Amino acid sequence: MRQFSEERDWLQFHDPKSLILALVGEVGELAELFQWVPSDKAKQRASKMPLQARAAEEISDVLLYLVRLADELDINLVEAANRKLDDSQKRFSIEQFRSKAPGSSVLDDEVE
Ligand SMILES: [Mg+2]
Repeated sequence: MRQFSEERDWLQFHDPKSLILALVGEVGELAELFQWVPSDKAKQRASKMPLQARAAEEISDVLLYLVRLADELDINLVEAANRKLDDSQKRFSIEQFRSKAPGSSVLDDEVE
């Protein structure tokens, strides 16, 4: 991704803020694909053309901007993600959280 950008002299535009805005824009394009698809039909429709192909394009755009942003910030994305996953495994034990959405206990407290 860095080489692709260097070859086009685009690194001058890749400050962190601009990359974050580009990333958010691509997340918005991904969200737009699903915006009016009923929740119970989203997975089924996204597993078929044409939505599958469009989703793959937008997910790729998100990934590529994320990789470029991590590179610009000297973050090893694979190591950082593995650290985060290790932390999540400690925070959300299988025994305590199996079949429970993270944060669902907060909502339970609000109802009571
Ligand atoms: Mg896009």
